[in-house]
Amino acid sequence: MDIIIWLFAAISLTWFMSYTRASLSSYSLSFAALMALGSLFNIIGIVSWLLFAVIALPLNIDNIRQQFISMPLLAIFKKIMPQMSSTEQEAIDAGTTWFDADLFRGNPDWKKLHNYPRPRLSTQEHAFIDGPVEQICAMVNDWHITHEIADLPPEIWQFLKENKFFALIIKKQYGGLEFSAYAQSRILQKLTGVSSVLASTVGVPNSLGPGELLQEYGTKAQQDYYLPRLASGEEIPCFALTSPEAGSDAGSIPDFGIICHGQFDGKDVLGMKLTWDKRYITLAPIATVLGLAFKLQDPDKIISEQQDLGITCALIPTNLPGITIGRRHFPLNVPFQNGPTQGSEVFVPLDFIIGGADMAGQGWRMLVECLSVGRAITLPSNSAGGVKTVALATGAYSRIRRQFKMPIGKMEGIEEPLARIGANAYLMDAVTTMSTGAIDLGEKPSVISAIAKYHLTEKMRSSMIDAMDIHGGKGICMGPNNYLARGYQGAPIAVTVEGANILTRSMIIYGQGAIRCHPYVLAELEAANNSDNEQALNDFDHALFGHIGFSISNIGRSLWCSLTGSRFLGSPYNDETRRYYQLLTRFSANLAMLSDIAMLSLGADLKRKERISARLGDILSNLYLASATLKRYNDEGRKTADFPFVQYAVEDCLYEMQHAIDELISNFPNKIIAKCLRAIIFPLGTWLNKPSDEIAHKVSELLQTPGSSRTRLGQGQYLTRDGCNIFGRLEQVLEDIINCEPIYEKVCHALNKKLPFYQLNKVAELGLTNNIISNEEAELLTNAELGRQWVIAVDDFKSDELTASIPAL
Ligand SMILES: Cc1cc2nc3c(=O)[nH]c(=O)nc-3n(C[C@H](O)[C@H](O)[C@H](O)COP(=O)(O)OP(=O)(O)OC[C@H]3O[C@@H](n4cnc5c(N)ncnc54)[C@H](O)[C@@H]3O)c2cc1C
Repeated sequence: MDIIIWLFAAISLTWFMSYTRASLSSYSLSFAALMALGSLFNIIGIVSWLLFAVIALPLNIDNIRQQFISMPLLAIFKKIMPQMSSTEQEAIDAGTTWFDADLFRGNPDWKKLHNYPRPRLSTQEHAFIDGPVEQICAMVNDWHITHEIADLPPEIWQFLKENKFFALIIKKQYGGLEFSAYAQSRILQKLTGVSSVLASTVGVPNSLGPGELLQEYGTKAQQDYYLPRLASGEEIPCFALTSPEAGSDAGSIPDFGIICHGQFDGKDVLGMKLTWDKRYITLAPIATVLGLAFKLQDPDKIISEQQDLGITCALIPTNLPGITIGRRHFPLNVPFQNGPTQGSEVFVPLDFIIGGADMAGQGWRMLVECLSVGRAITLPSNSAGGVKTVALATGAYSRIRRQFKMPIGKMEGIEEPLARIGANAYLMDAVTTMSTGAIDLGEKPSVISAIAKYHLTEKMRSSMIDAMDIHGGKGICMGPNNYLARGYQGAPIAVTVEGANILTRSMIIYGQGAIRCHPYVLAELEAANNSDNEQALNDFDHALFGHIGFSISNIGRSLWCSLTGSRFLGSPYNDETRRYYQLLTRFSANLAMLSDIAMLSLGADLKRKERISARLGDILSNLYLASATLKRYNDEGRKTADFPFVQYAVEDCLYEMQHAIDELISNFPNKIIAKCLRAIIFPLGTWLNKPSDEIAHKVSELLQTPGSSRTRLGQGQYLTRDGCNIFGRLEQVLEDIINCEPIYEKVCHALNKKLPFYQLNKVAELGLTNNIISNEEAELLTNAELGRQWVIAVDDFKSDELTASIPAL
């Protein structure tokens, strides 16, 4: 045996064992066998065996390894470990991980992804969406709400209460509807298509707020009292966390409560005196019960040995003396009820704390746990529903509106933004379905909820900008017929609330993801915090060596994927999606490797290196978004007609991942490490492009052509053709225009004349008088012209109609 062959065999074995994530002992035994073979052929001598023994024995004998390797490393780790505040710790502990963990760990199991059941609506949920939801969509006049009365009209409030729109999540035993997360998402998607004020008003009480907190943590007495009243709409809740001084840094709220004795309802009780100044609180101006977050203090140590008990949540009736409430903010012309509230020394009994006095100081944990669920439902669903409706409307408008004698949607410049909107609509529906499906499987997916919140609200904002550009002046001139402008104006609201997006991208997605999804980091941190030294050493040793093997394996996998173009990786399907699965697996391995190297080389500094953290988060997020898109395609029966949506969405995610890695490496603080990373991940340079013009063309064609793919894209949205619904009417005009085109061509051809397309009624007259077309065909042309003129029309007003009427003082 030649030494070269033996060395090749040794490298192959090392690579194979690391690629398959073999244990240290299996690797050592296999290597020993290879050495024995080498000895047989006189390649391996005594010196090599001694060297092997010096390395392998300490690594494989627990006591030696722990004493001489793990213990000193544990001591160093304790010193460099980032200090975590209790609020950070509670945020990390909250919720669960799901398929996000697979994506983070470098080798996703695609069969597992496709085996998760596709969420479905129950009969009752279906009936609710086809009944009350459809009815309220027909009742809403968004211009009246946003421009004329700056509120929902009384009959809509009444309808919402009577039909339990505020009780979607409340259990049936308390009179609620107890719908699944998936059903909530479909309801919000439909509502947001017609009015963002309506969707926000319904979304908030069903999201993070008293209802959810009471169900999760309330005492039986609190649940029995409040939940039926919330379900019937007798109580209107709001939840007040944000203060002028504490927005994103919500853990630093200055609002406080002091435990003391006092009088309540004529009785002497143990209670707390609360003082707060909150702002931006949705539903506060009309709320009857205020969920309040404050810091509880016990200076006289009445209930605890601690004086500062921490963030606590309580339910406060808003009619108590000392409370100021009722004034309104005016969020970007989307006037849902939102405003400030103050309280000065408001005394309430201790059992107003949600969960009773035992839950004093547990408020932050309660909030972040509920946020893990709520953040994946409300804002992502509102965003997805908005974009689905806008995608159909913009596709229809692009086909109907003509300039330069052709539909604007046929122009390459328009195809580009139109394709982005179409692909976003497909992907966003996929992400809400998969994420709410995870919740219905019992998960509280904290990392996924941050990904969904950030990326869907951003995609909604960019889609609104694209739609406005495509509509030109039609989008800009406001009035009852403008179906875009309010959504465009209001887009930054979703971006700002429930964790402002820059913060979410910079800190939360990767910050939580890295610790929660990584197979060993959490165990290492826990071991370092364990006061039982023996247990700490055992746990740390186990996690550390698992971690080292995991890191080596990810480097090996990344290099292998780069050198082979990932073409040998497995895929659950051997069709046109095969390459996508392979590339996603590759990026997953890259993420696992980059993540470990960033943590190892930057240590505690990684927390402050937000741009690195954000780019790692972008990789994880795009892995999730692409996986959800592929799952939707599979769940819907792999309909090839829809494939352009999948192609555009997935290829865009792949490109974004490459871009994030490229930027990360270019800006990596240690330039030597950066060079090594580039050599491993991009040995031949970056190679993925944005989705091609050809795919964009196909997507924009799908958006402009009535058919099953377009119908699936808008599924669940309010498109009823009742004459009053703008979106339903747009669909009708689109069909009329397409149907009358051959008739128009017939007339032009018979008269040997290119007639203008904007006077179809005249084309009809000419066609009839020259016996070219039938009466039905003439009627179709005339109707299409009426519809076409309605579509391109914009509103105008008398001057004084636009002047704000200021009430006399
Ligand atoms: C219409 C509306 C409705 C709301 N409803 C409610 C409600 O019902 N209840 C409630 O309690 N609150 C509510 N909020 C508050 C909302 O959650 C906060 O606005 C949000 O948390 C951000 O706080 P802030 O606006 O003070 O921004 P700031 O905290 O001042 O942030 C300003 C900017 O700095 C960025 N930033 C902050 N920290 C970091 C960081 N570490 N790294 C990078 N960037 C960072 C943010 O992303 C943001 O872009 C609402 C807000 C609005 C506008």
